[in-house]
Amino acid sequence: MVNNLYIVTPRGFCAGVEMAIKALTWMLKIYDETIYCYHEIVHNDWIVERFKNKNIQFIESTDELPKNAVLMLSAHGTAPVIESEFNTISSVQVNAVCPLVTKVHHEAKKFTESGQKIIYVGHKNHDEAIGALGVAPSSMFLVEKEEDLEQINIANEGVALLAQTTLAMSEWKPIMDSAIKKFPNLNMPRKSDLCYATTNRQEAVINVSSLVDVVLVVGSDTSSNTKALVSTIKSLGKESYRVNTTSEIDKLKLSGKNVAVTAGASAPDHIVQEIIKKLEPKNTEFFENTNETEYFPLPKELRSNITTLSNFLLEIFPNNKVDPIRSVNKDKQWTATEALSSL
Ligand code: SF4
Repeated sequence: MVNNLYIVTPRGFCAGVEMAIKALTWMLKIYDETIYCYHEIVHNDWIVERFKNKNIQFIESTDELPKNAVLMLSAHGTAPVIESEFNTISSVQVNAVCPLVTKVHHEAKKFTESGQKIIYVGHKNHDEAIGALGVAPSSMFLVEKEEDLEQINIANEGVALLAQTTLAMSEWKPIMDSAIKKFPNLNMPRKSDLCYATTNRQEAVINVSSLVDVVLVVGSDTSSNTKALVSTIKSLGKESYRVNTTSEIDKLKLSGKNVAVTAGASAPDHIVQEIIKKLEPKNTEFFENTNETEYFPLPKELRSNITTLSNFLLEIFPNNKVDPIRSVNKDKQWTATEALSSL
């Protein structure tokens, strides 16, 4: 049994994850055939399993997509060349990329078109970094740590700095400072590439950390922003663990400690609630740091086709699962948690 438990807000689903889960749920309701999804729709094991059980097939390359298949591109963003290749194979293609990842793709395109070289701070094998670096492969250089900057041999002028949206601020800041020193006229976007969900969740755990002995972060190993939350706390010299399921709590020595619980941007809240229950806290408090109101509409391909498609499918597939009440206009009132429960 833990002593005081602080449940941190904001935690869990961000607007991009909400949109991507709802978009894939819509696809399941509209199409009877197997739907292919390029990369995990969001980086959470439970959600990916849930969709796999519902006839979604996750693929990692264009070779795996059958001709004329229905395809969704994940929230993490896809390299333009891969997207074009998929276009020639698929019959329907919906891109559930988060608009904040698209922003970074636009910046990469803009800087490259103006003849600049780009240093991109990110994680080598992460889907988002792979997609972003694919925007301008010959003029973008991946940097994972400060020392990598030394290996980059480019002119000092005409250099821009971009980042993966889900980095830890404690990881990003030293690299940014070193890059500014090395390239004094470095160009950067006006607004940080680290997204609001990443920074809000990190600021919240930084602020709660002085009240607790341990911070638990709910999320999967594949989730970059989850791991960034853990490293943010560890960089403050505090204990922090990533937990994906309730069974992982058993091996942690939490008895009598003050604990905070948060969750990465792709972690479903029911897992957080199960973990809270398992912790059997003496006292529970809510630690509200920021109230998030961001909302991202469904992908435009889905929005523009959904009404027509729904009516059409109602005519030709009497057994289809389209619920006409769930119109695109009502999407804002429908949560990803409800979408997952409807599967
Ligand atoms: S973590 Fe940020 S960039 Fe990633 S999906 Fe959420 S809002 Fe978008």
